[in-house]
Amino acid sequence: MAVDIANPTEEHLMLREMVREWTKEHVEPQALEFDRDEKFNVDLLRSMGELGLLGISAQEDYGGAALDAVACTMIHEELSASDPGFALAYLAHSMLFVNNLAYNGNEEQKERILPKVCSGEWIGAMAMSEPDAGTDVLGLSTTAIEQADGSWLLNGRKMWITNGCLDELGTPADVVWVYARTGADEKGRVQMSTFLVEAGMVGYSVGQKIYDKTGMRASNTAELVFDDCIVPAANLVGGVGESLIHMMGNLELERLTLAGMALGIARRSLEEMNRYAAERTAFGSQIRDFGQIQRHIGEGWAKYRAMRAYVYDTANHLTIGKAGQRLDSDGVKLFATTAAKEIADSAMQVMGGYGYVGEYNVERLWRDAKLLEIGGGTLESHQKNITRDLLKNSDAITR
Ligand SMILES: Cc1cc2nc3c(=O)[nH]c(=O)nc-3n(C[C@H](O)[C@H](O)[C@H](O)COP(=O)(O)OP(=O)(O)OC[C@H]3O[C@@H](n4cnc5c(N)ncnc54)[C@H](O)[C@@H]3O)c2cc1C
Repeated sequence: MAVDIANPTEEHLMLREMVREWTKEHVEPQALEFDRDEKFNVDLLRSMGELGLLGISAQEDYGGAALDAVACTMIHEELSASDPGFALAYLAHSMLFVNNLAYNGNEEQKERILPKVCSGEWIGAMAMSEPDAGTDVLGLSTTAIEQADGSWLLNGRKMWITNGCLDELGTPADVVWVYARTGADEKGRVQMSTFLVEAGMVGYSVGQKIYDKTGMRASNTAELVFDDCIVPAANLVGGVGESLIHMMGNLELERLTLAGMALGIARRSLEEMNRYAAERTAFGSQIRDFGQIQRHIGEGWAKYRAMRAYVYDTANHLTIGKAGQRLDSDGVKLFATTAAKEIADSAMQVMGGYGYVGEYNVERLWRDAKLLEIGGGTLESHQKNITRDLLKNSDAITR
């Protein structure tokens, strides 16, 4: 029997159809405006709580849907085919915050916070990057020092935080998953611990909303400031020094779903150029009759199909909450993000001047695609990880 790896079960197919319909009705009509105005449609994101999509991978006991990596990936693909900026805000909330808490938080933290983030009452973010440390995660300078009463004092700045602020007034994310330096281990290596910082905690504020991004302008990106921020003992996640465990498992799902977003961009770009090439005539023929246009469409199709196969093959093999799929989560993001950028570029080329303006969509997809080569790990970091992993695990090549 033929297997559809993008929709392996009836439940997956129904989920895809539901998200596709909802996206067409609610996401597509607002995409151009929110990109142009550099605004985040926070109400639309909150409304996804009613559909059960905000806690897609979280356990049902806390308001989640307990679905798998394929489900997570397809939601990102569908949203991104209309509005990658909005999809990025969804990813920061549902994958970087909700999923992290669902798989790494303790019972008390999950009971207290997960229902709020699954319903959309609270919007979450994840703060790893800093002004002076991105790829070099261990170079972070935000510190957390334990106080006599067991609480923690956080000091430092986090940079590029998606959903870090919710509006133009600088309203901070309701809750942030923050990585901070808490000392060094016995070998002198940086020790990182994870904290849940909630809006209203003393010393937590938005430094600035970052404007004028190339793309992903429908998501808010912010600098967050922790200035003698007091975090209660109950908001330390796991044990002291356990951040690497949290980071590694969650990064794999993040990279896969970013690749899912790339797939959405590629699919939409292909759709747009295919339609346009039939509508547009030049020199008495449809432009799709020209060999040079056929190259864009033909190569775009083949790349799109290869991306789709690799994205969903990786999704079908990834068990959420378990590390160990880094080779393919890095591999698929490395391949799919650049492919999406190339296909969006082809679409713009095929559409000529029309492709270069917002109304025709591919201009926005083209700008948004570039971020996927940087955020969640740069292309170079994926190349480094893959090369390192293949040294230890060369059998992966012949398996
Ligand atoms: C729109 C947007 C949204 C984001 N959202 C979030 C978020 O929600 N949370 C969060 O924590 N972060 C977020 N980020 C930050 C993002 O993850 C970082 O930008 C990314 O990890 C790269 O870090 P950097 O910008 O500091 O670049 P750097 O790490 O300084 O890299 C600069 C260049 O050097 C290269 N380089 C660095 N080290 C090596 C090496 N060892 N070998 C080869 N080349 C190397 C890089 O690949 C890159 O080309 C976001 C960024 C953007 C732009």
